[in-house]
Amino acid sequence: IEELAELDELTGSYNRRCIMRLLDEEIALARKAAKPCAIALIDLDWFKRINDAHGHPIGDEVLRTFAITVFANIRPVDRFGRYGGEEFLLLLPETEGDAAARILDRLRMIVADLDWGAFSPSMRVTISAGVAALRDNDNADTFLARADSALYSAKARGRNRIAAS
Ligand code: C2E
Ligand code: C2E
Repeated sequence: IEELAELDELTGSYNRRCIMRLLDEEIALARKAAKPCAIALIDLDWFKRINDAHGHPIGDEVLRTFAITVFANIRPVDRFGRYGGEEFLLLLPETEGDAAARILDRLRMIVADLDWGAFSPSMRVTISAGVAALRDNDNADTFLARADSALYSAKARGRNRIAAS
């Protein structure tokens, strides 16, 4: 019952409601311990094109494989959830902004290097991400909004890249 309530069925990552609750918790914990905290909004580039060109079942496989790849390359304390369609939120407790940007760039390169030949010879998948570090006056909304505008600038600058707030 807990899994049904907290996990996204397709990707096994936290669902939106749960990752938002964990975000509130991480902010509170970071404040209490006076520790840093960083987040990243991650978006699969041109995902609609992948769905259109290869069909929704393959689109679902892409989301699943992406999530497995992230889980294999983050630490157990890191929290990863599906924020919306092809958008994901990664919570990085006790992590400074510059370290977070490096982590996201590592994930970006790992995803860009994945071999999708089993799905389609021509398929390429990349991600863009917006990184934000917690500030004193942040609440969950302002924190997310800064990650979101960083994501927007990563997209505007050509995708397959990371931008930091
Ligand atoms: P883990 O902590 O669950 O990390 C899983 C994977 O996330 C790592 O696999 C690595 O690909 C990536 N990762 C996590 N933290 C970092 C990091 O600071 N830098 C980089 N470049 N990648 C990171 P990996 O490397 O195969 O390690 C497997 C497990 O071995 C880790 O699982 C962790 O439990 C342990 N481990 C590896 N190196 C260290 C280390 O330097 N210190 C500690 N305390 N544990 C380590
Ligand atoms: P690095 O890969 O340059 O990572 C620098 C710092 O970024 C780490 O310092 C940590 O604070 C943060 N960081 C990196 N990856 C992750 C991650 O997946 N999750 C979280 N929450 N934080 C991350 P730290 O812990 O002092 O590690 C220093 C160096 O030790 C790392 O430099 C890396 O070279 C190595 N290392 C530590 N753990 C692992 C691991 O699990 N796997 C691998 N491959 N290397 C590790």
